[in-house]
Amino acid sequence: MFGLIGHSTSFDDARRKAFDLGYDHIAEGDLDVWCSAPPQLVEHVEIVSPSGKSIEGAYIDSCFVPEMLGRFKTARRKVLNAMELAQKKGISITALGGFTSIIFENFNLLQHQHVRNTILEWERFTTGNTHTAWVICRQLEINAPSIGIDLKKARVAVVGATGDIGSAVCRWLSQRTGVAELLLVARQQNPLKELQAELGGGRIMSLEDALPDADAVVWVASMPRTLEIDATKLRKPCLMIDGGYPKNLSSKLSGSGVHVLKGGIVEFFADIGWNMMELAEMEKPHRQMFACFAEAMLLEFENCHTNFSWGRNNITLEKMDFIGEASVRNGFSTLNLKTPLQVAAA
Ligand code: NDP
Repeated sequence: MFGLIGHSTSFDDARRKAFDLGYDHIAEGDLDVWCSAPPQLVEHVEIVSPSGKSIEGAYIDSCFVPEMLGRFKTARRKVLNAMELAQKKGISITALGGFTSIIFENFNLLQHQHVRNTILEWERFTTGNTHTAWVICRQLEINAPSIGIDLKKARVAVVGATGDIGSAVCRWLSQRTGVAELLLVARQQNPLKELQAELGGGRIMSLEDALPDADAVVWVASMPRTLEIDATKLRKPCLMIDGGYPKNLSSKLSGSGVHVLKGGIVEFFADIGWNMMELAEMEKPHRQMFACFAEAMLLEFENCHTNFSWGRNNITLEKMDFIGEASVRNGFSTLNLKTPLQVAAA
């Protein structure tokens, strides 16, 4: 059985969902009430692959909302409690979605293996970052040529280059895709220099300097909501793959040569009988999902019950190959730009 740990994108969304599910007493509570609310297993689901293999899974809402990010102990408790619930339900492999994997890593939850009388078994969990990185690379490789960008001649900026996903994307783009130049963007200089040395190339740049120089930009950082981009200073055409969570880029940027694509999103080949993606603002919520969630499904389909994506900067090209092949074999495709015909029909 696979599991997905997620959360609502805002406190208002969480309250709406709680009313819908009949948890009125929680829905009516203020943020303090929500801080003490336990995780809930809200949905069971069955998924059948193109070859007819059937797997079962469950969605656990951690009852965390982004408004709690400043409350360190609450955020930590929410993630650990949701993991404990997944393990107690006997789920073999569970993906940490949304902010939960970032909380796990940044708050160093590896030190907190004991949750009450449960010892968390790390091999039951995955961040899903290997599949996310692979999907983002494929989205770039598929969509750049479709808008006239030749990646062999292109400059590609990776914003969040030193992160877990960003560093994997950089490795793939330099060694597999072979882009002309990588522009490496993050705030701390030392990790950037280490990455540059590992890659044997790439230009370290500030965001302001990189954007006007880039034919494509991969966003794999949670940027401040106040981020403003001047579309007039971007190259045309320019492909922006928005892999951050929450999404960094306004769709308003799209147009006259600038193409914005939601990054790290996959589509299953058939409808899935679940409701959990409706609040994640997917265009096709019965087929589309975050690639990190799909990683748990893929590991279950492949009987690979291990913490496949774990820790920081451990994603190898071989692991990306494995998960990418499993993704295609089990009926997932990447979200791509709409064709002019699809845009006209929308
Ligand atoms: P990490 O914390 O490992 O890396 C974050 C990276 O962003 C670092 O390089 C960091 O470097 C950089 N960064 C952070 N803030 C800024 C800023 N203001 N300006 C420039 N760079 C910045 O995160 P992950 O790799 O795990 O995740 C990256 C993003 O992908 C997150 O937003 C996450 O939510 C999203 N994600 C999406 C998934 C999906 O399925 N679509 C799945 C999993 C994650 P520095 O601190 O030096 O600036």
